[in-house]
Amino acid sequence: MALSALIHNTNITKILLDQKIQNGSVVVDATMGNGKDTLFLCQRVLPKGKVYAFDIQEAALKNTLKLLKKHHFDPDKSSNILCIKDSHENFDQYITEPVDVFMYNLGYLPGGDQSIITSPETTIKSLNSAFSLLKEGGMISIIVYYGHPGGSKEKQELEKFLQVLSNQRYKIFQGTMPYNDHCPPIIYIIEKLQRKETIKLFKGGF
Ligand code: SAH
Repeated sequence: MALSALIHNTNITKILLDQKIQNGSVVVDATMGNGKDTLFLCQRVLPKGKVYAFDIQEAALKNTLKLLKKHHFDPDKSSNILCIKDSHENFDQYITEPVDVFMYNLGYLPGGDQSIITSPETTIKSLNSAFSLLKEGGMISIIVYYGHPGGSKEKQELEKFLQVLSNQRYKIFQGTMPYNDHCPPIIYIIEKLQRKETIKLFKGGF
């Protein structure tokens, strides 16, 4: 696969997360958007698993439902697919079990209203509840698009937050294509270490 397809279609994220999920996993798409990540998660964890997907915009829900139905996944008929019109700050109100994987795609809905964007405050609140819901060994992917007004601020706030986090029980990968594009998306993959690995880390060993 061409490098730009790996980055732009977020395939690299899917390759990295794929090893953490299987039929039966519990997964969350924190920003449904046009539903591509929700579809990927449904394909990987159903029928035994559970997919939660969140967005604040009606257009995102509509696009996602259309895409899912086209691929024979119907949230109206399956209690294992929950497409929720609410902010990802409110995970706690909906998610009742430990989660294997969360996926975030920050920015605005492609092809939609460019003034509705993810915001640093709600993104960080949401990440805090995601970290407590995440299983040991689980992963969170965050793809940051920041070329729009407000995007750089969100990127900065997120970087500050991740820097603090990296000193705790998390391993963080960052990837981008710095030389090819203007404001290329930045990919973060965060893994929650097993408790025993954390102890080793604090003792200074790897
Ligand atoms: N820019 C990316 C897609 C980002 S989609 C790309 O080009 O592929 C981001 C989605 O997050 C939008 O559909 C938007 O409605 C949604 N969103 C914004 N704030 C949110 C929040 N607080 N909770 C859940 N979704 C939110």
